[in-house]
Amino acid sequence: MTKIKMNVPLVELDGDEMTRVLWKAIKEILIEPFVDLNTVYFDLGLPERERTGDKVTAEAAEAIKKYGVGVKCATITPNAQRVSEYNLTRMWKSPNGTIRAALDGTVFRAPVLVNGIKPLVPNWTKPITIARHAYGDVYSGVEAYVPEGGKVYLELPNGDKKLIKDLPSAGIIQAVHNLDKSIAGFARSCFNYALSTRQDLWFSTKDTISKTYDHRFKDIFAEIYESEYRKSFEEAGIEYFYTLIDDAVARVMRSKGGFIWACKNYDGDVMSDMLATAFGSLAMMTSVLVSPDGKFEYEAAHGTVTRHYYKHLNGEATSTNSVATIFAWTGALKKRAELDGNAELKDFAERLEKVTVSTIESGIMTGDLVGLFNREGVTPVKVGSIEFLEAVAKAL
Ligand code: NAP
Ligand code: MG
Repeated sequence: MTKIKMNVPLVELDGDEMTRVLWKAIKEILIEPFVDLNTVYFDLGLPERERTGDKVTAEAAEAIKKYGVGVKCATITPNAQRVSEYNLTRMWKSPNGTIRAALDGTVFRAPVLVNGIKPLVPNWTKPITIARHAYGDVYSGVEAYVPEGGKVYLELPNGDKKLIKDLPSAGIIQAVHNLDKSIAGFARSCFNYALSTRQDLWFSTKDTISKTYDHRFKDIFAEIYESEYRKSFEEAGIEYFYTLIDDAVARVMRSKGGFIWACKNYDGDVMSDMLATAFGSLAMMTSVLVSPDGKFEYEAAHGTVTRHYYKHLNGEATSTNSVATIFAWTGALKKRAELDGNAELKDFAERLEKVTVSTIESGIMTGDLVGLFNREGVTPVKVGSIEFLEAVAKAL
């Protein structure tokens, strides 16, 4: 069989622990037998980040800017314990944070749906994708406890002072900010991703209460939509609509799914955890970082699955779910195929997704899914990490 060619390389970002083990196996068992894989490889594993003084992460981000599409394995974000475990000279920053900052991107999270694993909300028959604005608001807020009470002001650069409150007794105070530029980047990432996946885009804030702050978000989205995206949305047959967050939650619960929900930083943080739980398993949640100028980086939403890795190192059998990592690869390959007009590659990636899902639907799955699976006439069978990949390969 001749392998599928790739003219333009994909930027490949390797990672840590159990997901690094899966990464290699996914390539060897599911991709390389079929595709003449063309990647620009960066090792973002913690030892290599240490060796290069984290330069490798910055270089990987630059490569994604250059080639347009990347695929990333989960990586360790060092904490104090990791510093001693890996003998680090510094507590290196989160690679995802570094790459997100370099691309000025927004993260979109979407679940992989499987017949037999029902979302807790039964009418959700299609995935709901959450886009979280990852800048500002309460995450870079300034707060104070004011034990003595008294007048607290906002002081503006033009010298104006606004009284926040004359606190009659002890209380708390908080100031938050955001930037037009960051909100505009968020908006463009959302519009681009909606076009790229042909899904409606919903955006919600609390603009009825926050008449300047949240309203600014609403206005920036509306201006950019009208001037840059309305025509493409109409041509694609998709819709952008804004609604108050209270209304959005009600609509989301009643919906069938199949849309993107753009959220401010805090709303996205909380809602994405709620959706991940309601759709079943973190191991089935994919994630893609999209920059305002349309660069894409695909990954799994989960971490490096440390507990399983230590079992693996001890020579014990593992049953780690590789679905989100497989879908990171297929997402990236499909995007590469779309940009390069590579129909064969697109067909392959779509087939790999279908077969991955149908393998689970036939009853073959990793341990995390067994308790969630319920399909008439199918008895779920727990298989090992590599056995699952081999079962998918056999069906390809
Ligand atoms: P995690 O790796 O997502 O794992 C948390 C738990 O969720 C696991 O112990 C496992 O539960 C379950 N789980 C997650 N993914 C699974 C999979 N594919 N298959 C089966 N079960 C799965 O999160 P963490 O333990 O908080 O973090 C571990 C490391 O990952 C940390 O160093 C963190 O910095 C890093 N991390 C990286 C990223 C990223 O690169 N995007 C994201 C999050 C965390 P059981 O143990 O009960 O089986
Ligand atoms: Mg959260």
